[in-house]
Amino acid sequence: MADGAHHEKIELITRNIRTFPDFPVKGINFKDVCPILKEPSALSAVVDLFEEQTKQSFPQVDIIAGIEARGFLFGPLLAQRLGVGFVPVRKKGKLPGPTVSLSYALEYGVDVLEIQEDAVTAGQKVVLIDDLLATGGTMHASCKLLEKHQAEVLGCFVVIKFKDLKGEEKLHDYRVFSLLQC
Ligand code: AMP
Repeated sequence: MADGAHHEKIELITRNIRTFPDFPVKGINFKDVCPILKEPSALSAVVDLFEEQTKQSFPQVDIIAGIEARGFLFGPLLAQRLGVGFVPVRKKGKLPGPTVSLSYALEYGVDVLEIQEDAVTAGQKVVLIDDLLATGGTMHASCKLLEKHQAEVLGCFVVIKFKDLKGEEKLHDYRVFSLLQC
């Protein structure tokens, strides 16, 4: 994609993200991607850029995995563009049938992520999608969960990355791509 067109898409996406200070708790600057969904050209821009990055870096991808909840908004659109399947990574207890799970540490306590047992087969190559990378804990746990199921994680895509929270350091074993940094 020409530099100008790339830049325009990034600008369009940036204009369609809102920040809500102190949501859901004091001290969190919540990045709201809902305006992107309301503006078809902005949503296309996100999927275009993810598609371009996948074709460039991971043409061998077999499956797109989206992380609950906002990875579900972009992941299936990307998967369809690429002509591959989509699987959801969900919080504990939401998926029916046999599942594989992994617990990971939060600042206070633990959380559990799950995929369905037949979501991926051994050796399948996966790209993970979420809306945002903060501490990197959720993305890291999702990578480990897929690897527990013998899938290969090619890369991790997010719309926004918080640079100061050093999520990428936690993900040093993985290739991380973000459309925007703040
Ligand atoms: P983390 O595990 O700390 O990298 O947090 C990333 C996950 O939490 C993603 O699934 C995001 O949707 C969500 N998240 C964390 N911080 C924010 C934020 N400031 N605004 C919107 N979503 C957030």
